[in-house]
Amino acid sequence: MAHPLVAANWKMNTTLTEAEALVRAEMAELGALDGLDVVLCPPFVSLGRVAGLVKGTRLHVGAQNLHWENEGAFTGEVSADMLRHLCKYVIVGHSERRQLFGETDEMVSRKVKAALAADLIPILCVGEVLEEREQGRAIEVVTTQVRAALEGVASTDRVVVAYEPVWAIGTGLAADGAAAEEMCGLARQLVAEAQGEGAAKYTPILYGGSVNPDNISQYVGQPNVDGALVGGASLKPDQFVAIARATAEARVA
Ligand code: PEP
Repeated sequence: MAHPLVAANWKMNTTLTEAEALVRAEMAELGALDGLDVVLCPPFVSLGRVAGLVKGTRLHVGAQNLHWENEGAFTGEVSADMLRHLCKYVIVGHSERRQLFGETDEMVSRKVKAALAADLIPILCVGEVLEEREQGRAIEVVTTQVRAALEGVASTDRVVVAYEPVWAIGTGLAADGAAAEEMCGLARQLVAEAQGEGAAKYTPILYGGSVNPDNISQYVGQPNVDGALVGGASLKPDQFVAIARATAEARVA
């Protein structure tokens, strides 16, 4: 079984002071949850502070993005080499990056390789837009995205895949448990195709999209949903702790 994992995507929210307050408000309760990986993904400028705060606890830190080159004339970008000393995880291919910043499957694939080369664990985000779902193309879209991102990845490389239907992100229109299971099951099959059955068994597959304390159980109660990538609710300590606790209760034997 894959290790359950809950990741908090703070997006472009929190100043340094607010980031520190958020961590302090939830770290004791999150750190007490046995058998669950919790990953906090603050903005770049708060990574160092958050990493310092959670040092020695069970909590992990992740970045929200990276560039695929390690250094050079890429104003405003941050490389895997810079991140590797600050965090263990990095979100790659979030739909906001794909939609607002023009990230293509090829760029996402290069980012995944750059993360892995630096011993970072990519949290690969995939998911269809509403029109694609309505056209019955969700499976095709997610298949293309996962295949492109994981092409050439070794069986020993650790990745996390987050299925995040774009229409569910920040909208309150969460997918139902059966749809999440279908797509997370597909993601696991695609990991098996790229990295082998052994790797797929241990790869955390997450659902993301308007997850909250009231709906988390319908996702983590499914066989192929190992946890959640949480946006809005991760900025509210009581809600994020409740989501993490429900995940631990459902998935930790
Ligand atoms: C996200 O940003 O990855 C996300 C799932 O956001 P929200 O939980 O707010 O829908």
